[in-house]
Amino acid sequence: MKELIEIPARCGIAVEVPAGQSIRVVNTHGGQVVDMWAFRRDDPSEHMSMPHSVVTLGRIKPAVGDSLVSNLRRPVLRLVEDTSPGVHCMLFASCDPARYRLLGCTEYHDNCADNLRSAVAAHRIPLPYIPTPLNLFMNTKFDDHRVMRVEPPEARPGDRVTFRAEHDCIVALSACPQDLVPVNAHGCTPTAVAYAVFS
Ligand SMILES: [Zn+2]
Repeated sequence: MKELIEIPARCGIAVEVPAGQSIRVVNTHGGQVVDMWAFRRDDPSEHMSMPHSVVTLGRIKPAVGDSLVSNLRRPVLRLVEDTSPGVHCMLFASCDPARYRLLGCTEYHDNCADNLRSAVAAHRIPLPYIPTPLNLFMNTKFDDHRVMRVEPPEARPGDRVTFRAEHDCIVALSACPQDLVPVNAHGCTPTAVAYAVFS
């Protein structure tokens, strides 16, 4: 396997993952949410879609063996390994400038949507909108009264997930910079994560 590459806290990356190869995401310090997107290399208008994946899987949290599908309902990435407690979120929009304004920020705040825009610009992926990400390690819970709450991730230091690409993909990752609500652990302190692409 290639060496792990660090994604600094609050930052994002995009990387090519050819069909049949895998991408691993490591929660280096534990407790960090990582927003994940995938776009088809040959037609980026087709992208991994959480609403479509929820329908296909009949689940709101992916399990090992599950294929996440595109907005055209075709497999994009298959989850092949998950050493974390398996708590991820398929329902939350990524954080963006409007989210932080609503939380009271009066100045620019790093955010996952802009991390995605910056990361995929070099790959010439148009972004007419921000697809809902797979929020890796995000700990959303639902009670019997349909109320949702967010708690710090259960992922431990070194926990990792691995996905195999079903097509040539561009995969984008953002180490979520949320530090105002307890999306991330360590007292809402964003931390670095790491990834590797390998055969
Ligand atoms: Zn975020």
